[in-house]
Amino acid sequence: MSFSADIHCQAAELLLASKKVLIFTHQRPDGDALGSSFGLKYFLEHNGIKAEVFIPGSIPHRHTKLFSGFFSRISAEELSTFDTFAAVDCANPARLGVPDFLTIDALRQSRFINIDHHGGNSMESGFFNLVSPDSSSCCELLVDILTCAGKEIPEKCAQFFMTGMMTDTGCFRFSNTKAHTLRTAALLLEAGAQLEPIVNAVFFSKPVTQMRFENELMQNHLKFASEGKIAYAVIPDELTEKHNFNIKEDEGLIDLLREIDGVIIAVLLYHGPGGIKISMRSKDSRFPVGPVARAFNGGGHELAAGATFEGTAEEAEKALIAKLSDLFA
Ligand code: 5GP
Ligand code: MN
Repeated sequence: MSFSADIHCQAAELLLASKKVLIFTHQRPDGDALGSSFGLKYFLEHNGIKAEVFIPGSIPHRHTKLFSGFFSRISAEELSTFDTFAAVDCANPARLGVPDFLTIDALRQSRFINIDHHGGNSMESGFFNLVSPDSSSCCELLVDILTCAGKEIPEKCAQFFMTGMMTDTGCFRFSNTKAHTLRTAALLLEAGAQLEPIVNAVFFSKPVTQMRFENELMQNHLKFASEGKIAYAVIPDELTEKHNFNIKEDEGLIDLLREIDGVIIAVLLYHGPGGIKISMRSKDSRFPVGPVARAFNGGGHELAAGATFEGTAEEAEKALIAKLSDLFA
């Protein structure tokens, strides 16, 4: 087939030339991962192409009102009925939610379309990669791709893509919000996206148990370093257990620290699978947390990044806060 010069159009052409697409995203999917997956699924279906989303396990409670209907298991036999695989919003193979029997090498050798907005994406499909770190969200990137095909964005897709754009930009407050981001959001509104259901489901639906957990965390576990420029908390397991709070459910917890006046870097540390999970945000591009995450074998974006530390929480706290304090030394 002849290829368009624009890589967005190439992605659209490949997707629309598929027969049956299985969409993967990162584990513990957030609003952008889900918006990208479901938006792409319904766009393809709208255009007569079979598509399914694969997510191992469940999705966070706050997203269940907006997103439903996905494969959480699949047999090797059924997998073989898909001619195309797509990964959206996933930076690296270790985070990709795929069936246990599917290896990254097998995926790379298949008709595998990798679409992401994380700089340093290491999915490395042998078939097609489109990594756009300038995009606020993978949803924004997908709108660029799909509009390139000259097709309309159906209302249902517009709603999914708007959800991902809103969650990854913090409702268009973060510095990844560019003029193009707002133009894309306007396009989605014109296509029928509605803000109210997204805001109510994702941002105004905090369980009261979570509110109590957060209050106790802020009251008893909030710490500061570098004269208040760094705010951090090591979350004790007992606290999450006491309030029956599932930390994996929450994307907004770190904002409690980020919102504090004078704080430039917010950090959360907690016990996760494989070690101590480090989650970081910076409010100032002169003090990026991306390089710090990479120094701890993690990754992410310059102002929102994370890593997993092998060791105790005390060791993680000491090493990380020392490294972050160096930024202000
Ligand atoms: P969060 O703090 O919300 O878990 O993650 C923020 C960003 O950092 C996301 O883009 C995520 O991909 C990245 N990130 C979080 N944890 C890790 C990790 O352990 N390793 C890598 N490579 N990236 C991470
Ligand atoms: Mn994203």
